[in-house]
Amino acid sequence: MLGDAKLDSLDTRLEQFKLNNAANQNDLQTILKEYSQLLDDYKTLKIAYDAKGNGLKVEELEAISNIKHRNPYILVLVDGNGYVFNDELVRDKEEGGMRAARMLNDAVEKHLRESLPQAKDSRIIVRIYADLTNLSKQLARSKIIGLEKRSICPFTAGFTRAINLFDFTDALDEEGTKFKIRESFKLAVEDGACSHIFFAACHDSGYYSQLVPYTGNRDKVTLVQGAGFNSDFHTFGLNVTQFPTLFRWSELASAPPNTKAPFANKAERKASSTETKAPTKNTYAHAANGSGSWRRDDTNGMSDAPLIDISSSLGDEDGYNGNSAKKKTQQCKFFQKGFCRFGDKCNFIHPGDVSVSQQKPSGIIIDRSDISSQLPTAVVQGFIPINKNNQRIDTYVREPTQEEWVAYNARFHSNKPCNNHHLQGMCTRFGCPYDHNTLEPGVRHCLEYVVKCSACPRKSACRSVECIQGHLCQKNDCVGQAKGCKMKTDMHNVDPRLASMVPAEDEEIMHDDFSGVPLPPATSMGMW
Ligand SMILES: [Zn+2]
Ligand SMILES: [Zn+2]
Ligand SMILES: [Zn+2]
Ligand SMILES: [Zn+2]
Repeated sequence: MLGDAKLDSLDTRLEQFKLNNAANQNDLQTILKEYSQLLDDYKTLKIAYDAKGNGLKVEELEAISNIKHRNPYILVLVDGNGYVFNDELVRDKEEGGMRAARMLNDAVEKHLRESLPQAKDSRIIVRIYADLTNLSKQLARSKIIGLEKRSICPFTAGFTRAINLFDFTDALDEEGTKFKIRESFKLAVEDGACSHIFFAACHDSGYYSQLVPYTGNRDKVTLVQGAGFNSDFHTFGLNVTQFPTLFRWSELASAPPNTKAPFANKAERKASSTETKAPTKNTYAHAANGSGSWRRDDTNGMSDAPLIDISSSLGDEDGYNGNSAKKKTQQCKFFQKGFCRFGDKCNFIHPGDVSVSQQKPSGIIIDRSDISSQLPTAVVQGFIPINKNNQRIDTYVREPTQEEWVAYNARFHSNKPCNNHHLQGMCTRFGCPYDHNTLEPGVRHCLEYVVKCSACPRKSACRSVECIQGHLCQKNDCVGQAKGCKMKTDMHNVDPRLASMVPAEDEEIMHDDFSGVPLPPATSMGMW
């Protein structure tokens, strides 16, 4: 048994550690900023210096260095052990490899057309490096390919063969892979002919330092998100894209002894095993919660097993609320990690829970001045965008114009448009009383906006692709219900920034009977 003095001292040390850690994080951010500033200044200085040496004016030299390169290219750089092609591609060996190459080419071309038009005429060079022996072992454990050594080779050969500048190369081991990725990146990022780099090695903090000088350099580098994306990479302020039809979104079972389990997974295992000590239904639901994320436990070797969400089969709330009368004693591991889907019904303590202050006029703790531009503008079909706290976020839906409101209200008065039909694309209701006739685009947008302003009952935990309701308040500077917002305080404290995407988990259409929403109050028309 620990004495009070000892406990106090441990408490103090923990607090001290937290403070120090926060201070270090701040210092790091400052240093990164200063470093990037220094680099910019240096470049400017260098141009001036060179200009002097050549007897040229600074502007002339800048013009020369900006001359379009005759053979611009974009580089797709992939760590093949962190970014593994989808099972159906790998399984088809040579054929699958060729298909993967063509699909990647198409996906990159599409991305260039849509997001980087200045680079759309560049040739596409793809360099994938991997420890093929280990990768083959991992895939064989999941029974995707054979057990022979380097059994993935037919796939990589097909990939390399398919397109002139595409290479899938064996780098022997993990160190070899990192070495090749680092050197290729270094060469391309300083090469004026390289118009853009897609960097697909964001699962490993070992690559972190190399990206530091390119913080905020969205013209040059785009990060590719895959399974095990390390959210630290978001601090670079670079654009993030995904190729979910190509790369798998769940991590492979690792093949010991070569690879160690990532720290995050260890922590997760520890967390769930701690909570398992209290045998409540809540605990099982929590376990399901943990395994529902794509960052799944990498030791079970069953990454393809179907997920069963036990919590959804509990049905009524009382099912997991039976213990709530008892005094809570243990801290909730899930809340500590950022998010617990049970909210105030959780049997464990949620320290400093913001939802406690819901009754106050304002319990808003995040900066809401620019929510609209921080929200994602597009998502990948079949995936749910989430923030760093695993909370669902929505794509931005702009406020309707005055004319759109007028048209919407007129339409609404004659016959309420059916939400399911117009927004989900289908209505299963027999003899649906709502209007299924085609809507003008402005009216449809209004309908979408109004439905997004009503809170989804599952809130941040919702993973349904069919869900059309809102999972956070999108209005800039909204102070919540005090000013007529229909969303509660917790929906105003959801970080709007995209951290990751998780596969949707649809059991059925959840908001089946959610039809016909009330008119916005006339006074707030257009101000919503
Ligand atoms: Zn909890
Ligand atoms: Zn309908
Ligand atoms: Zn929802
Ligand atoms: Zn609001």
